[in-house]
Amino acid sequence: MTTVLIIEDERELSKVLRSYLEQAGYSVLTAERGDIGFSIWKEKQPEMVLLDLNLPGMDGLEIAREIRRQGETGMIMITARVEEIDRLIGLEIGADDYITKPFSMREFLARVKAQLRRVRMMREEIRSSDQGEKEQLKSGNLTLDVQRREVLLDGKPLVMKPKEYELLLFLANHQGHVLSRDLILERVWGWDFTGASRTVDVHVRWLREKIEIDPANPKRIITVHGVGYRFEG
Ligand code: CA
Repeated sequence: MTTVLIIEDERELSKVLRSYLEQAGYSVLTAERGDIGFSIWKEKQPEMVLLDLNLPGMDGLEIAREIRRQGETGMIMITARVEEIDRLIGLEIGADDYITKPFSMREFLARVKAQLRRVRMMREEIRSSDQGEKEQLKSGNLTLDVQRREVLLDGKPLVMKPKEYELLLFLANHQGHVLSRDLILERVWGWDFTGASRTVDVHVRWLREKIEIDPANPKRIITVHGVGYRFEG
C-alpha cells in the first residue's frame, strides 16, 4: 500500500486531505509539527509527503530541502498565498509540486497520482542504475554518481537543481535514444499532458550551459528537430 505523510498544522485541512487520500486507497500518516513530521518521514520513508509551508517546530521549506537531499520522495507543498509560490519557484525545490488552497479533491488527487508515478519511475530508474555497474554513468569527462546524486565534470561537482539532475539522469540512462519532449515531461516531471514542452527546453538549456564545452554547439544533448532530445556518450 502506498503511504502518504501529511505535515500540516491546520487540523481541519489535514483531516479533509486524510479522508480524500484514504478514500482513494492510500495509507495516511499525519503530523502537526514540522520536526515531528520530519522524524516520521525519516523513519517510515513514505512514498509521498504533503507539506505545509508555515509549521511549528521546523519550517516547511527546510523539510523540503532535506527530503530532496536525502531521497526520492514525492512532495507537494501546500500553500495558501500566491506570494509563497514565487518563493517556492525561486528556491527550485522541485516546486512544480505545489498546490494552492483552496483546491478541489479532483485536482488534489490528480497531483498526488502524477507525483507518485514520477517517484516510482525515478525509483525504478535508480534501482536499475544501481544494479550492475551502473552506479556511475560516465561520458567523457562527465560522471553521474547515481548513489550520491552528484554530477562531476573533470572530477569537480556541478551545482545542479533537482530537476536538472533528474533530467540528466533520465537522458544519460537512455543514451543514444531519441526521447520526445512529452515522454521527458512524463518521466521527469510526472506530467501527463502536452503543451508544457518549453519546460523541457529551458532545463535542457540550463544543462547545456553546465555540461557542454560550447552550449551553442552541443555535443552531448542533441536536439532532434520536431521530436525532442538524444543524449550522446
Ligand atoms: Ca500552517
